[in-house]
Amino acid sequence: MAYDLAVVGAGIVGLGHALAAARRGKRVVVIDRDAQANGASVRNFGFVTVTGQGAGDCWQLARRARDVWQEVADAAGIDILQRGLVLAARLPESEAVIDAFLKTPMGEGCEKLTAAQAQRFVPNLRPQAAPVALYSPHEVRVESRTAVPLVARFLAERYGVVFRRSTSVVAVEAPRLITADGEVIEAEATVVCPGDEYTALFPERIAAYGVTRCKLQMLRVVPARPVALQSAVMSDLGLGRYLGYAELPEAAPLKRRLDAEFGPERENGIHLIVTQSADGSLVVGDSHHYATTPDPFGSQGVDDLILGELDAVLDLPSRTVSERWIGTYASADGRWRFTDKPSETVRIVIVTAGCGASTAFGIGEETIDELYG
Ligand SMILES: Cc1cc2nc3c(=O)[nH]c(=O)nc-3n(C[C@H](O)[C@H](O)[C@H](O)COP(=O)(O)OP(=O)(O)OC[C@H]3O[C@@H](n4cnc5c(N)ncnc54)[C@H](O)[C@@H]3O)c2cc1C
Repeated sequence: MAYDLAVVGAGIVGLGHALAAARRGKRVVVIDRDAQANGASVRNFGFVTVTGQGAGDCWQLARRARDVWQEVADAAGIDILQRGLVLAARLPESEAVIDAFLKTPMGEGCEKLTAAQAQRFVPNLRPQAAPVALYSPHEVRVESRTAVPLVARFLAERYGVVFRRSTSVVAVEAPRLITADGEVIEAEATVVCPGDEYTALFPERIAAYGVTRCKLQMLRVVPARPVALQSAVMSDLGLGRYLGYAELPEAAPLKRRLDAEFGPERENGIHLIVTQSADGSLVVGDSHHYATTPDPFGSQGVDDLILGELDAVLDLPSRTVSERWIGTYASADGRWRFTDKPSETVRIVIVTAGCGASTAFGIGEETIDELYG
């Protein structure tokens, strides 16, 4: 048998599985239909988020994945560009959510800051946007569009993982994978990590999880004057959306107020995330629209809502927009991921919420532990 493990998909979920198996000494091949990573994994914020992830396995796997990101970053020459999170809260109802969150086990290491304290991390924070702020030290931020290729290169160079690019897998008949040009690749076990490509392999099994797609609009904003944001930035809208906060009973009054006063933002699934790249530009988003096949068009109205929230929170006079892009990820009601088991040696692993960059390294270890004992 040529390989112990075949991984279909070279996004971050596939790479997380390849890493976990390679660390166990397995011979791994990763197969992807694209010439280079092009899906959600390179379109996101690179924001490896712990605080705010849903309580339970999502938060736990995010903590583990964050640690693995730090190990891999050191070994693969990936820069950690920011650490931590400042969540600026301007609505009075938000403070109750922050207070309640800090009392949960997930609040460990986090603290409530004044505007002046928060400005030490984020100098451009408008004081009126952050009468209070939640600070979390747990996050790291990488530049996904360079970090994901560097993870793949590290896997190839350090562990001899074989990458087969521009190769679509059309069937998994364990222990054989069949490619679109008829090649047969043999591997004892297979993990299928197809992201939001859910009609190519095992479509009926994936359909059973109610998978659809979520479309997001993203922008790159260039400040007119240099700014240095030590931490990623979020706002009240994030408290109303991220499950680690939004599922707390204390979040109900905030969500009612957001629905009443931020109707367009809530209808377009908008919350603010701002991260910073090495060249000083800011990655800003995002919106959430759900459809089986979302249209590929960016709406100016949605961008304006995102930028309006940015301007409410950060003081960035004469900022400009240098890039706009759309991303999609797999989504399913009521679950943030699933692992399906078509046979003893085959797994399908899909993250069905916007947290794959934050959890993939943890999920990969979990799947590989379960496969190999
Ligand atoms: C705009 C945006 C912002 C986001 N922000 C964050 C964030 O801040 N933090 C966070 O944690 N997460 C974030 N996410 C979510 C995160 O990016 C995803 O959960 C994660 O990237 C999913 O990884 P994946 O490997 O499953 O998917 P993908 O990156 O889409 O990779 C799947 C791969 O499988 C390949 N493939 C599929 N089918 C086949 C086949 N039959 N044969 C060969 N290859 C195949 C595809 O070519 C693709 O390369 C965001 C997502 C988007 C779109």
